Order: sequence, then structure tokens, then C-alpha cells
Amino acid sequence: MTMHEQPHVSDRSQLLEALADMGRADVVIVGGGATGLGIALDASLRGLAVVLLESHDFAKGTSSRATKLVHGGVRYLAQGNIGLVREALHERSTLLHNAPHLARPLAFVMPGYKCWETPFYGAGLKIYDALAGKAGLGPTRFLNARQTADCVPGVRRQGLLGGVKYWDGQFDDARLALALARSAAGQGALLLNYCPVTELIHAQGRVAGVRCRDAETGRTFTIESSCVINATGVWVDALRRQDGAATGREVEAMVAPSQGVHLVVDSDFFPGNHALLVPRTRDGRVLFAVPWLGKVILGTTDTPCDDLPREPRAYARETAFILGEAAKYLHRAPSRSDVKSIWVGLRPLLRPPRDEAGATKKLSREHAVVVSPSGLVTVTGGKWTTYRAMAEDVLDKCVEASLLNRLPPSETADFLLVGAPARGHSRATLAGAPGLDAYGSEADAVRSLPGGDVELVPGLTAGMLRFAARYEYARNIEDVLARRTRLLFLDAALAAQAAPAAAAIMQEETGRDPGLAEFLQLAEQYRSVPQ
Ligand SMILES: Cc1cc2nc3c(=O)[nH]c(=O)nc-3n(C[C@H](O)[C@H](O)[C@H](O)COP(=O)(O)OP(=O)(O)OC[C@H]3O[C@@H](n4cnc5c(N)ncnc54)[C@H](O)[C@@H]3O)c2cc1C
Repeated sequence: MTMHEQPHVSDRSQLLEALADMGRADVVIVGGGATGLGIALDASLRGLAVVLLESHDFAKGTSSRATKLVHGGVRYLAQGNIGLVREALHERSTLLHNAPHLARPLAFVMPGYKCWETPFYGAGLKIYDALAGKAGLGPTRFLNARQTADCVPGVRRQGLLGGVKYWDGQFDDARLALALARSAAGQGALLLNYCPVTELIHAQGRVAGVRCRDAETGRTFTIESSCVINATGVWVDALRRQDGAATGREVEAMVAPSQGVHLVVDSDFFPGNHALLVPRTRDGRVLFAVPWLGKVILGTTDTPCDDLPREPRAYARETAFILGEAAKYLHRAPSRSDVKSIWVGLRPLLRPPRDEAGATKKLSREHAVVVSPSGLVTVTGGKWTTYRAMAEDVLDKCVEASLLNRLPPSETADFLLVGAPARGHSRATLAGAPGLDAYGSEADAVRSLPGGDVELVPGLTAGMLRFAARYEYARNIEDVLARRTRLLFLDAALAAQAAPAAAAIMQEETGRDPGLAEFLQLAEQYRSVPQ
């Protein structure tokens, strides 16, 4: 690592002073998930003065709870959504290039147990390849039963007729969010977590800025801007209603949230380095078994929901569904007691016009950008894979609505994110147990910190915690054990075991209560499969 690559310090008191001094910004982004962070990077690379405010931690919302696929979406192809698939396939290759330490190509196998399945799905996947064109990661291949079992040794062999192997990608969602935040900060953007926007400011019926509050001290700040972007995911309607109320308008909900559950089990239930895609479960959805950081993710579900809690909980019927479907396709079926972690994310699906409302499976997976009569820009929907294209679209709309002056072209398509090793160097493995790989070109900086080689539990060093506190905006042990490292998502019991030692280090680094009791309660939720 050269002097130029010294990581950017994320000292909170300095960030808060900068916020107090700022007063005005070209763009204020509300929400620090994939969508908001992608906009922050794009806007700052184009020379704008950017402030991004996140109420909790970066990626604490939906953006740390994805299936972690960088994909075109085989399922959307089946629904005939060619435009969405083509754009996502293109974005897939951009993401793999720009964050090689956090994303990698991954081979998937679709097993066939009925004679029509392999030719039918294979033909669809050939179209998927054609749509990817030069952005393709490898050709789709038909497999016989033996080849299928060789690729996915964990698959049920009884009645197996063959399979189809195709390529998509995989990533570490929360760490990618952090890389986006830190890349934007490197370009001069001011980003703060634990700083909710509490109020929109209006002047003469137009949005004129925001008020926000430092969640740690209660100190409040006002930032003026005529360009305020609401990128709050499933929570966008709260800010839209505030905007409507301030200008005397009724606002219809834009989002129809749907929750998705994932279960994590040990890799011996599904060994090897291919993922499994079950193309049609009993409720007509797809189900994945994906190797990730030494474990296997099983999921997901699609359950419409009304509540929008920060830590949504799985329903017993959802976990029973995943385990039941996994048992049909896996040679050795995991049971409830084999689950190492369970996590739930809320999809911000776009609500169709009122009288067309139907099952959320039919709701659009695309994103929408809406500018309200008072100039509040709201973006929601879409998916992680397309965050970069969404950011471009949002900034185009801001210019169209005269909230920003004409901008130079976006530079994000070729921009290597923080930690990306130089082109041609090794990429993330993501298959093995967690380690320093995920830090890419910053691995030596992590290793050189006090305790750089001291493992608290396998895959978690004291150096990683110190790096998280000093350079990655981490404020408490949930930040480090859930999102800077992924221990909570991989093995909640192990995360609880590591928590006291992690808490001592975080306290030393930040000088504040690191939230041990709250974290142990959360870890209990992540390890408890409902019945
Ligand atoms: C189960 C599931 C699986 C998925 N799998 C995939 C996948 O494999 N691949 C893929 O490409 N996509 C996937 N997605 C989709 C993808 O995860 C989402 O599209 C994406 O994460 C949404 O990001 P976001 O930034 O819009 O929302 P969020 O990540 O939720 O970010 C919004 C942020 O706004 C903050 N906020 C809210 N109110 C305020 C306020 N007043 N002030 C400040 N901040 C505020 C929240 O705390 C939150 O952090 C999946 C989604 C789900 C639910």
C-alpha cells in the first residue's frame, strides 16, 4: 500500500464538525443503502458537494440482507422482463470489474427431475447468455445426471435426470455498501451514519433542505439544498408524506413491501463451489442454495408485509417452507437445529396503481424515480445489482427537473471502489471462511493494526475491529459483527461468543458504550428459528 492509498479516517467528531460548517450542499441524500450510496459516489465524482445522512448504520436496512447475487435475474426473464434483465446483466459485469475484492462470478446448477425441465430451462438460459452478449461470464451447458451430481454433490440423486449449468455473480452486500460510502468520501462527499433526517425544510412551497439529528448526542443540524433525494428504500413513503403534508397534498404509497427470509447452514449440507437454483418451488418461486463465506445460504421467501421494523422477523411458515423445499432437493436435509443464522430483509417493491394491486410476485422489480410538485426526488425499487445505473438515472432526473445544473457524464462505470486491487490481481473468493480477502488492497493496513493477527474467533481479528472503528464508520459491535464482518449473518452463536471481546476493543476505539447487551439480544433473534 502506498502513502496515497492511506485509508480515509472516519472520525465522527470531525464529520459532525464538517456537517455543522457545511450549511449548504448541492445534493442531500437521505438513506445510506445501495441506492443512496450509489448516488453519493456518482454525484461526488461529478464534482457536486454531497451530504448523505443515514438514520442507522450504512446498509442496516435492506442492503445487508440480500441473497448476495449479482445477477440479471433468471426469474425476471421467465416473466418476460427483457429490458430489466439486459440492464442487470450489463451492470453485473461492471460491478464484478469495479469491486473484484467483493464480488466474483459463480456457477449455478439447475437440477432436472422431469424430462422437460432440462431442455426447457436450458433454452431459457441460452437466451440469458445471448442477452448478456460480451458481458457473459461463461456459456450455459447441459449436464447429464452424473455431471450434475459432480458439480453439486449435495443434490438429491434419486430421480435426477440431468441439469443445466449457467453463470451469474455473487458479492458481499454490506461490505460493498461500505466500499461505496468510503469511495464517495474519498471524492469529498460527507457521509454520516446514525444521523436521521427528522424534517424536510420547505420555502415557498419548494423543498429547501433537511434537518437531521446526531443519534448519539441529540445535536441537530440544518443543511440547505434545493436537491434533496429520498433514497430510504421501503421507508420512502414516510418522507413523501411529510413532504405532502407540508405542501397540503395527499400522497399515495409508492412501496408495497415484501419480506424475504434466508437461513444459513454449514457447508456440509451443500458442499462444493457451485450454487443451486430450484426453478419452481411449490409456490411458483425460485429457491437458492448458495455457498457464501464458508457456509450455505438457503432462501428466500416473498411475503407481503405492512410493518416496516428495523429487524423484521421470519414467520414460522416461511422457515418451514425453506426447509421443506430444501429437503426435496438436497441429499441431506438440514433441520431447524442446523440453522446457524436467520435474517430477514424487506423488498421495496413498487406498488401498482390502487385497483390493480395483486400478489407482490407480480409487482415490478424495476426502480422508479418520482419528483414531487415541491421538488422532493424519491427513488425506490430496483435491486442491488443495478444500483449504479439507478444512480445515473436519478441524477439525470434531477437535471431534467432543474434541481441541478447540467452535469458532466457519469464516471462510475470505470471507477474502482476502495480496496479494489489493481486490475488483473486476484479477486474475492467468497467461497471460503471469512478472512482478509475482503479487504483487497487494504489487507496489509488491517494486518498492521494492533491485534492484526489476533483472532477473537476464526475469521475475526482485533485488527478488523480497529480498522472498522477508525476507517469504516463503525460505532458499535453490531456494526462490526453484522456488516463490517459478516459473523452475525453466518453464525449467530459464534457472533455472540465473540461479542464481549469485540465490545472491549470497540469501547477502547470509540470511547463509548459499544452496545453489548443489545447485540446479544439481536444474536439470540438471529439464531432462533420460529416454530
Ligand atoms: C430478501 C431479499 C433478497 C434480495 N436479493 C438480492 C440479490 O441477490 N441481488 C440483488 O441485486 N438485489 C437483491 N435484493 C434487492 C436489494 O437488496 C435492494 O433492492 C436494495 O438493497 C435496496 O437498497 P436501498 O438503498 O434502496 O434500501 P435500503 O438498503 O433499505 O436503504 C435505505 C436506508 O434509508 C435509511 N433511512 C430510512 N429513513 C431515514 C431517515 N429519515 N433518515 C436517514 N436515513 C433513513 C434506512 O435506515 C436504510 O438504511 C434483495 C432484497 C431482499 C429483500
